[in-house]
Amino acid sequence: MEKELVCTASKKCGGCQYLADSYEKQLSTKQKYIDNLLKKYCKVEPIIGMKDPLYYRNKVHHVFSRDRQGNIITGCYEANSHRVVNVKECFIEDLECQKIIKTIAKMCKSFKIKTYDEDTDYGLLRHVLVRKGFKTGEIMVVLVLRNSVLPGKNNFVKALLKEHPNITTIVLNVNDKHTSMVLGTFSKPIYGPGFIKDELCGVKFRISADSFYQVNPVQTEILYKKAIEMAALTGKERIIDAYCGIGTIGLCASNYAKEVIGVELNKEAVKDAIANCRENKIGNCRFYCADAGDFMDSVSQELSTDPSRKIDVVFMDPPRSGSTEKFIDSVARLNPSKVVYVSCGPDTLARDLKYFEKLGYKVNKIQPVDMFPMTEHVETVVLMSRDKE
Ligand code: SAH
Repeated sequence: MEKELVCTASKKCGGCQYLADSYEKQLSTKQKYIDNLLKKYCKVEPIIGMKDPLYYRNKVHHVFSRDRQGNIITGCYEANSHRVVNVKECFIEDLECQKIIKTIAKMCKSFKIKTYDEDTDYGLLRHVLVRKGFKTGEIMVVLVLRNSVLPGKNNFVKALLKEHPNITTIVLNVNDKHTSMVLGTFSKPIYGPGFIKDELCGVKFRISADSFYQVNPVQTEILYKKAIEMAALTGKERIIDAYCGIGTIGLCASNYAKEVIGVELNKEAVKDAIANCRENKIGNCRFYCADAGDFMDSVSQELSTDPSRKIDVVFMDPPRSGSTEKFIDSVARLNPSKVVYVSCGPDTLARDLKYFEKLGYKVNKIQPVDMFPMTEHVETVVLMSRDKE
């Protein structure tokens, strides 16, 4: 990857801050950043980079709009605004997903589908989201509309499938709110089952339109393997997978543990987690829909009276905003011998590690993984254990 990458949208899109740098330089910048932030806790392992760091995003989302001449454009919002940047080719989005978006933009004309205009609240098509299973090749297309009526729906589906026979499901989502959220609350499949499947660490996962699923599956497998390896499971442990999404970390670890309890706020993701459990015939996992802090608090109170149900390992993978003191206080009360913290926000990770340390946990290992080449984001997995005085 030595040829310089020139993206026509890069200045406005704000996505690939490091695109102009060689991949080696990107990795060393990320290493230094994590070193500076976290080396006071423990030595930072060398960041794990990607073999092929281009076109890795398995989830591609484009806003649909028109330019001043009335031509359809698709892309992203300019940073801090609702102006749409026309993204003709992206270096990190999966190429097949990008082609599907281009086809839909072309089809809008022949099907007389108007793109939505936020200012006038006029038009129909707001966004298109394409997700692809990297092991299965299954593809989901989500059409986000202002209302539920897609003109010539059946012919539209037929025409799209003709151009892209790898599409396995098409979902219609209605978003009638003046909002920066992409998806509205109503979804229905108009072709296929309404979800795709993918596979990570030998476990099959069902992914719905709005479930969280890591966007770089190649690196995700590496990340999860590291996280599970750090926990050094023997098969006897009771573990909690907090902020579990569709249950990915817990289900991948379930083969090496006695019992897994997952907790997640998003209802659809919990449904997926339960279905994933069934589909993989995994019998030792349970999933709950709750705020992770509230859940841990009540589990820690319940278990204080029943030491036989002790939690041995807590995996936690909060959103970029990090965890909460309530959550960490409850973890300390539950007293697991190991905590494995997966983080996509280094600053909030540093904040939370400080609090963990105050409550008697010691950082044993820090492993950055490059989940987002070309961008400034860094994922890190950290092993903590009870400080033995
Ligand atoms: N471990 C999963 C998901 C990580 S992303 C994976 O690797 O795929 C973080 C997840 O935390 C999201 O699924 C989000 O819905 C969930 N989340 C956000 N706030 C939460 C809260 N307060 N309680 C529980 N889950 C929460």
